[in-house]
Order: sequence, then structure tokens, then C-alpha cells
Amino acid sequence: MRKAKSNFEELEDVEFKIGNEAFKPKTLSCSKCDIQMKKSGIEINLEGEVSIKVLGFECPKCKKRYLGLEEAKKLDKALIISRLVSEDFKMERSLSFDGDNFIFRVPKEFTHDVHKKKVDIIPLGAKQFCALVK
Ligand SMILES: [Zn+2]
Repeated sequence: MRKAKSNFEELEDVEFKIGNEAFKPKTLSCSKCDIQMKKSGIEINLEGEVSIKVLGFECPKCKKRYLGLEEAKKLDKALIISRLVSEDFKMERSLSFDGDNFIFRVPKEFTHDVHKKKVDIIPLGAKQFCALVK
């Protein structure tokens, strides 16, 4: 069991259960009611105009919603990207320039489990990137 966590108010009531060995399940039954669940497209507002649609299952009786692992991963990625571009979750750092590269400092709270002192940079747009500290 896991919760779709985020800093966005819209998501606070959204709770999903992930089917046990179900990576991409075709059918699923509710563990509580023991009846077949219905396929259901679930649209989740990430922020403002951004939303993602995932294909999950809904129990017709207790209305509990499940996601297959693949869909849950999709949701995870969307949440990460959404957080990256969110105005609510950001931190301003000064950039310095050494002639070739821009340099900025990363707060140590973000890097408590860093071993290799390396970072992967994934461009997201002209002025956006995602940094994965290793
Ligand atoms: Zn149920």
C-alpha cells in the first residue's frame, strides 16, 4: 500500500492501492469485497491546467481505486515533473560562471545519501533540467 503523496492540495484526498504482483493487470478484484473491479480512467489534477490520466480499477461497491504498477510509475514521474515546475516547491540559488559552466550550490539536506559525488543532468527544456545526484 502506498499513498500518492505531493505538496498539492488537490491531491491530498487521492489514495491508491497498487495491486500486488500486478504490473499491468487486465482484471482485478477488490480484496475487501471480493468482486470484480471495473476498469476506470482516473484523471488527476497535478496543478492548475496540468493533469494526467491513468488507467486504473475501481470497485463498484466500496469505490476503492487501484492502479497497476506501470500506471503508478507513470503517476510518480508526472508528480516529479509537476513538482519541478511548481511555484510552490522551489528554492532560489545564485549561479556563478567559471568561463565554461554555470555553478550552483545544492543544499546538503537534498543530498544526504550521496556517495559518488556525481550528478546526472536531464534537460527538460531550454531553461529547465532535472538533476539526479548519485
Ligand atoms: Zn470493494
